[in-house]
Amino acid sequence: MKNDNSTKSPNLAKRVLVAGLSFVEWISKETAPRTPSLWAQKYPEYSPYLCETILGDGLQLVYLGTINNRPYHWLIRIDSKTNVSDDEFNFEDILQPIEEECGSCEGVDECESCQENEEECEYPNNISWGGGHWGMIVNFGTGEVGS
Ligand SMILES: [Zn+2]
Repeated sequence: MKNDNSTKSPNLAKRVLVAGLSFVEWISKETAPRTPSLWAQKYPEYSPYLCETILGDGLQLVYLGTINNRPYHWLIRIDSKTNVSDDEFNFEDILQPIEEECGSCEGVDECESCQENEEECEYPNNISWGGGHWGMIVNFGTGEVGS
């Protein structure tokens, strides 16, 4: 008898497109340069930074923005089984790898890099947590798209 598990567990690798785009296309769309605005004020163009650190299977793309850094945000690939909207989800799980990779900045008075460089750290090397928001952009494990 032929050994075939394909009907038992869906193969994640078989999900090629979500909302008509491949994962690579989603990433290039979400990291493309953009001009953010906040309360009708325009900010300089920037390209959202995608963390090189990948958590779990990496099939879910999420964003993390902080109140101190708004309107800028960071991107990270995490496990497709993580539900970032769940009350149990700990934002530290995605904040930490971004801080480790990029460096955090708590302002000129507190920050060694600021003092060494004699100028304030700039995006993406300046994440500063004082509350923030995060969410799923696309999940290639479940086929969901964030709102
Ligand atoms: Zn700094």
